Amino acid sequence: MLLTEIFPMLALELEQLLKKQGEVELAAQVPQLKVVDRCRCGDNFCSSFYTQPKPEGSYGPGHRCLDLDAVEGMLVLDVVAGTIAHVEVLNRYEIRQKLIAEFP
Ligand SMILES: [Zn+2]
Repeated sequence: MLLTEIFPMLALELEQLLKKQGEVELAAQVPQLKVVDRCRCGDNFCSSFYTQPKPEGSYGPGHRCLDLDAVEGMLVLDVVAGTIAHVEVLNRYEIRQKLIAEFP
């Protein structure tokens, strides 16, 4: 499922925040990002999701975290070898509702 189809506003927001930080290559990935699963940590403020299959263990070398400085809640990307692998979304209630409906 494409991120732009489930969360068009969030996709737009990600793209804009990435461009603002000069991450043009990552911003260009946003229209193709697929939501493969949601985070299963169980925290009620968490609406994070995977855009690449969940790794067996930790991400290992070539991994970086990118805090996007969101206006509402918190948005942090996990980038692995130049690809957006996981989008950490915290304290965004409306996204959580939709995500749970799509990925029970
Ligand atoms: Zn989580």
